[in-house]
Amino acid sequence: MADRKFRMSSGGNPRGVSAEGPDPLQSFRELVEKRKKSNKRTVRLRLLLEEHEEKILFDIGLTSVRLWNELNYEKRKLFFRDNLTPEKRVEINRRYYHKYKNFLGVNAGQVINKNEEAWESFFKLLKMKKQGRLSPHISKISPPGYWKDRVTGKKKIHILIRNDRYYLEPISDGEGRLILKDFKLRIRYVGRIRWEGKQGRLEIIYETGRWFAYIPIEVGVDPSKSNPKGYIKPNYKDKKNRISNPRSIKQKDPVGDKKAFIDVGLNNLFAVVVSDGSALLIKGGVIKSEYYWWKREISTYQAVRDLLKNAGILTWIKYHEKYLKALYKRNERLRHLYRTAIRFLAEMLWSRGVEKIYIGYPIMLSQNNGNEYNTNIWWYRKIILWIIDVFIEYGIDVEIVSEDYTSQKCSICGEIHKNGRIYRGLYICRKTGKKINADINASLNIARRIGYKITITRKIESYLVTHNGIKPLIPRQRANTRDPEVRNLAL
Ligand SMILES: [Zn+2]
Repeated sequence: MADRKFRMSSGGNPRGVSAEGPDPLQSFRELVEKRKKSNKRTVRLRLLLEEHEEKILFDIGLTSVRLWNELNYEKRKLFFRDNLTPEKRVEINRRYYHKYKNFLGVNAGQVINKNEEAWESFFKLLKMKKQGRLSPHISKISPPGYWKDRVTGKKKIHILIRNDRYYLEPISDGEGRLILKDFKLRIRYVGRIRWEGKQGRLEIIYETGRWFAYIPIEVGVDPSKSNPKGYIKPNYKDKKNRISNPRSIKQKDPVGDKKAFIDVGLNNLFAVVVSDGSALLIKGGVIKSEYYWWKREISTYQAVRDLLKNAGILTWIKYHEKYLKALYKRNERLRHLYRTAIRFLAEMLWSRGVEKIYIGYPIMLSQNNGNEYNTNIWWYRKIILWIIDVFIEYGIDVEIVSEDYTSQKCSICGEIHKNGRIYRGLYICRKTGKKINADINASLNIARRIGYKITITRKIESYLVTHNGIKPLIPRQRANTRDPEVRNLAL
């Protein structure tokens, strides 16, 4: 990924940004290794509620939020007085458990556990900071916050249910009932489940007017004897109407020993070079225009909100809500497009005999805008983690390669041509006069970095990601390397 072409900024939520050591990639590499070995998957189900059910869920949700906020307030108060000892945490937790167990049952303990997890990771960051192991881009770390919107103060509804206090009752493909034992609820759900295994702590979240259930699954792990119903079964069938291998994340083995090198961007989502001399571009034309369209929406709402707020006009809250909704929608739509592209790429590379992919990871040395950097990195990491999740299914190994100056370096002669990128999409070697697609140039550099000198022997294949799937581009369309940047806003 080159610094110039991946600008996903404005109002993103870089929550996933974690601490980095002196090797800026070290902690991310560890995360990648962990992810590769992980047998966990989270299923998201949409909940379709009757009116009376929704009322009950709001009650449970608001109570859980109150528990979190009260408990967290006490811990924060002690923390700022330098007085939050482990013993005090235990005492506070116990007190609040008893206060809330009548209404929430054992699920009160789940809120408390999650709060403890948040404090644990905060203390870990603090420790890293003291040891000087924190990335300079993280300017501020703060103790766990409240479950509420920072601007409006409105509560954020979260419900946590212990792994043995709920189960799913499938009705037909993609539909069923979620049973919440402690609240005598049988809620209708819809959603695809591809995996089979032991269920974890259920999280129910209210997101811009809709309810979702998130269920973590330990794929292939049997339920405990005390909770035989705590086992999720798949409902998703492939094109041939089969459920294949739901107890294993790995679905296939590689059919060859080729390697592929991938540069991630926004014009070309993926620029790929394969060790057999083929190259392909997955273009993100739609993604880019969507991205800019939402960016404009988001900044407009933000501006109106701030204007009204500063003038003391109460309707600013409405614009804040619109802003949040636009942010959410943008993320959802980008997520969908990226995941479509990743699935397609995995299928394609697997069928061509790729056994390992190397993805470039940008090392941006000087950063003026820390916020923008964080947002970009947040997206970038998310994309890499999605790539891992999917490629592991195909038995393809994933490694990240640190990238610096890949957009300036020349894959033809190996030198850095400061003015190599002549215009969007094209790179020219100032020594040999040869021209090359700029993103393919970057992926060739990734290959070089780990010792592969590849010559592209075939025509570059191009594909376009849309909301309806992937379209191959005919050569005439392919010739258009200048993607419209902000012009295509009508989408
Ligand atoms: Zn050159």
